Amino acid sequence: MSVSVVLFTADLRLHDHPPLRAGLDGRRQVVPLFVRDRGVAAAGFAAPNRLAFLADCLRDLDAGLRERGGRLVVRSGDVVEEVCKVAAEADADEVHMAADVSAYAQLRERRLRRALEAGGRRLHVHETVTGAVPPGAVTPASSDHFAVFTPYFRQWSGQRLRGVLDAPRSVRVPAGIGSEEPPRRAGSPGLSPELAEGGERAGRKRLTAWLRSGVTAYADLHDDLAGDATSRLSPHLHFGTLSPVEVIHRARRVGGPGAEAFVRQVAWRDFHRQVLAARPGAADADYRTKHDRWRSERTARDDIEAWREGRTGYPVVDAAMRQLRQEGWMHNRARLLTASFLAKTLYVDWRVGAGHFLDLLVDGDVANNQLNWQWVAGTGTDTRPNRVLNPVTQAKRHDPEGAYVRRWVPELADIAGAAVHEPWKLRGSDRARCEAYPDPVIDLADGLARFKRARSRD
Ligand code: FAD
Repeated sequence: MSVSVVLFTADLRLHDHPPLRAGLDGRRQVVPLFVRDRGVAAAGFAAPNRLAFLADCLRDLDAGLRERGGRLVVRSGDVVEEVCKVAAEADADEVHMAADVSAYAQLRERRLRRALEAGGRRLHVHETVTGAVPPGAVTPASSDHFAVFTPYFRQWSGQRLRGVLDAPRSVRVPAGIGSEEPPRRAGSPGLSPELAEGGERAGRKRLTAWLRSGVTAYADLHDDLAGDATSRLSPHLHFGTLSPVEVIHRARRVGGPGAEAFVRQVAWRDFHRQVLAARPGAADADYRTKHDRWRSERTARDDIEAWREGRTGYPVVDAAMRQLRQEGWMHNRARLLTASFLAKTLYVDWRVGAGHFLDLLVDGDVANNQLNWQWVAGTGTDTRPNRVLNPVTQAKRHDPEGAYVRRWVPELADIAGAAVHEPWKLRGSDRARCEAYPDPVIDLADGLARFKRARSRD
């Protein structure tokens, strides 16, 4: 019986897994392999929150495989060397893996293909595993990718998605392939105290609960900061403990305006992925330069520190930055307004903010993070690149009672209602009750004027 290797990367699940299905085809034996890739750590991408979530995912994947008669083989080192070693040990003739979009993933695929072919083995790369509609599947007439979401979404919506694959009933792994123990979630200094649980089971449970009772109200409530009424599926989509194809099919089955708005949001993921696949350099370089002369770690150190620590004096910004540290996650509206505050109001290089988000976000993702940051900074695909979000107006609109701010900023916990959004206007006993809260680091009008001046040079 021939043997195949299935390399798991950002697809840590058993349900709806085309590489695993193909690897098992013809009743083969299969080596389900995960490599703790030192290249990922060297690139600075191994943040404590994501490592902890990853550990949950690997343990759960191993448990799921064991229930089916198999196990997960875990190795550490250079991903290409380890895959070749395992393939040789198992005498496997082919390797299956998911396609992915970052420069790192594209290089990994090329290196792996060359190395395997040199040993007489084949690499099969499967689309529609880490994304739903693959990069390049829909394109405008004049380019290799869409730079505007609305026309992209129109074509994306017309694509027929493949059917959802069941999890395999049994997995047979050849004997004698050495493995490390899957890592355990360990306490570490940078770990967020309220980090979500990882793993396919946790992801499937959350998806089912979301589709049963959350998604219907999504169109109305997705921007309500205190309501916390979004799916929180992003880490599961990032690590692939949920299949985007399955998420979309199941949401469409629920139907209605809530599910439609939710699917549209999931399509943003594919949108950014097709931009990054075509322009991998956009992870670090402006997608469309505005010739900004950004303030930097060197020239804006105090402002950057205040932003990172959630003490800018703008309550909604500070609430969001503290939520990020506490949970390793932040609401989308909060990501938009904190990013706009850093890049536009404080006029700090978007890469500084994107780096901080990647240090903490459990769903931290090259395509989604870097390209959303560029979108907000006006160097990306936003068709209104010079709009600036006013944090006070945003707070009054999306946290009208001030509950989100009070939840995260204890210095303001005793201030009632929307007054919490402008503590500098408080007088008398109210003022005394929030003495510990800092004054604003910048006057919003000054920030806006500086940004307009900078962009008028463009
Ligand atoms: P829901 O509102 O329930 O949406 C469902 C899913 O759709 C999400 O899980 C996500 O996979 C996708 N999605 C939603 N909004 C977006 C979007 N704007 N772009 C791409 N996909 C989207 N998302 C990440 O997954 N990783 C990141 O590193 C990341 N960084 C961001 C940085 C900034 C500055 C901004 C403005 C947004 C960023 N986002 C990122 C997008 C978005 O904020 C999160 O996906 C969303 O908040 C996750 O919460 P949720 O799962 O409850 O989303």
